[in-house]
Amino acid sequence: NKIHYAEITISAVSPKQYPNDGLPEVALAGRSNVGKSSFINTMVNRKKLARTSGKPGKTRTLNYFNIENELFFVDVPGYGYAKVSNAEQEKWGKMMNIYFSSREELSLSILLVDLRHHPTDLDVQMYDFLKYYNLPVLVVATKADKIKKSKRNKHINQVIQTLELATGDKVVVFSAETREGRDEVWNEILASTRN
Ligand code: GDP
Repeated sequence: NKIHYAEITISAVSPKQYPNDGLPEVALAGRSNVGKSSFINTMVNRKKLARTSGKPGKTRTLNYFNIENELFFVDVPGYGYAKVSNAEQEKWGKMMNIYFSSREELSLSILLVDLRHHPTDLDVQMYDFLKYYNLPVLVVATKADKIKKSKRNKHINQVIQTLELATGDKVVVFSAETREGRDEVWNEILASTRN
């Protein structure tokens, strides 16, 4: 999968700003530090389209990345910041509800989790939130290079069991270091946009 064009289109704070060209959208959710920026950069073969790490004051917008004028990656703000006020949390919740309940362009939601650890309560909440809206979810388990091959299955099962993964939802093991899983994720994305 060669990507020639990938650019940030807009950081949207309200639905009025969502692009209206009808391209399919792939939402990317995950707690901060899970490896989402690295995931985006690996998927599009760029070093720093999405900024990695160390950005505590990150604003809570939906960041739209136009990929080859064929689809958008929609970076959903990382959840689980301790320092965000309740008012902020509420605003974020509203934006998430609007987007995930009504966005017709949404073709796939990707939830990133860290393969090394049990999914956190917030990961589980996010998964349940997506399933509440009956959305197909692809779970991408990141940082796989940090887990020995012999321990792989145990960690994958941990993810499946902790999230109580629904029938039809898949886990893809991924590493931004080795690029493992990249092709598989692209296949899942392209399959979802053809539906
Ligand atoms: P974000 O906050 O979710 O965007 O996470 P980042 O992409 O900024 O990654 C957080 C940290 O994890 C950084 O230090 C990355 O270098 C590291 N990281 C991300 N993905 C991987 C991976 O697949 N393998 C390894 N070993 N480290 C990773």
